[in-house]
Amino acid sequence: MAKENFGKPFSHFGTNAIHAGQDPDQWNARMVVPPITMSTTYKQKGPGETYGFDYSRSGNPTRNCLEACIASLENGKHALCMASGLAATDLVVRLLKAGDHIVSMNDLYGGTNRYFRTMKQFGIDITFVDATDINKFGTAFQDNTKLVWIETPTNPMLNVVDIEAVVKITKEKSNALVAIDNTFATCYFQRPLELGADIVVNSMTKYMNGHSDAVMGCVVVRDDKVAERLRFLQNACGAVPSPFDCFLVNRGLKTMHVRMKQHMSNGLAVARFLEKNPRVVKVLHPGLESHPQHLLAKRQTRGFSGMVTVYLKGGIEESRKFLQNLKLFTTAESLGGYESLAELPAIMTHASVPKDQREELGIGDNLIRLSVGLEEEDDLIADLDQALKTAIQ
Ligand SMILES: *Cc1c(COP(=O)(O)O)cnc(C)c1O
Repeated sequence: MAKENFGKPFSHFGTNAIHAGQDPDQWNARMVVPPITMSTTYKQKGPGETYGFDYSRSGNPTRNCLEACIASLENGKHALCMASGLAATDLVVRLLKAGDHIVSMNDLYGGTNRYFRTMKQFGIDITFVDATDINKFGTAFQDNTKLVWIETPTNPMLNVVDIEAVVKITKEKSNALVAIDNTFATCYFQRPLELGADIVVNSMTKYMNGHSDAVMGCVVVRDDKVAERLRFLQNACGAVPSPFDCFLVNRGLKTMHVRMKQHMSNGLAVARFLEKNPRVVKVLHPGLESHPQHLLAKRQTRGFSGMVTVYLKGGIEESRKFLQNLKLFTTAESLGGYESLAELPAIMTHASVPKDQREELGIGDNLIRLSVGLEEEDDLIADLDQALKTAIQ
């Protein structure tokens, strides 16, 4: 990836977000906005002879529109929507069988970490490794490694992993598939399939829907054979999203390019304000020159979303007071919506990560994760400023 691409959106992104999969000519009434098709079943011409749909778990017109739009935004060929981000993760893991091995990371979304730790009972072995150290990452492979699972930037530490380097080592050492959780960066800023990854997963509950009113996930691939297997599993396991939620996410995508630009500029402004603040120990944001993988982030991505992680001066008391005194930022889990949120990962999103692993990663009682929303920059900074002054003397 040429470095000069930083700051430039992928070609046609906004146009595809609005038009891909949305052609009014696919509907008899030529609806400009895709309809919500609630019907679970479809009339057949004769037994087994369909008009393209038979049952809504297997396929639904509203979901198909959304899947076509997502495939184009990730520059993939096939997208599959599932009822949550974790259901999308589960779909990918179902490509494996007992006796297989996964290489993943020690720094992962808490729910993914919890899910992966249930793998043992199904006979799937998993190694959690520090993937920011590419040599250490290379030592985790085994003869039976069939899947590599990477998150970048990570949640909540915002570490950046070199996707091209991961793909290169994986192909040298195994025939494993490389899957990237692209939830934090989103396809607006980062396209793992263009960097050689086989599979992209997103929790669309976050930036892609962007309005904190639908839980959904997707899997995107280019390979027809992998897609065919995933399509079988989507129907066979059945955790598909509702047509109404598909409508909401499809609508959310229409403004994704506009939202992401504002998330980036607000997020950077907040990170720079906090980095200068005497009540703050350290700020983690890949756009700051102080970030350990800042140059990699600029090479690999087109920009940054609105996630900022900050170590406050103090401990649990200061963290609680800070969160309680915020007025615009709401104390809540989740991220990527238009509204600003703040949370304490050690007690909230990452409470399910074992304590020793949390400590090793640096997820302490003074670590606050912010999802910077679309409010006015000045108001957000003023809110953080007053809460810091109240919480930390
Ligand atoms: C939220 C999240 C998930 C899980 O998605 P759900 O939609 O909550 O199931 C996975 N990965 C990351 C990075 C997330 O932030």
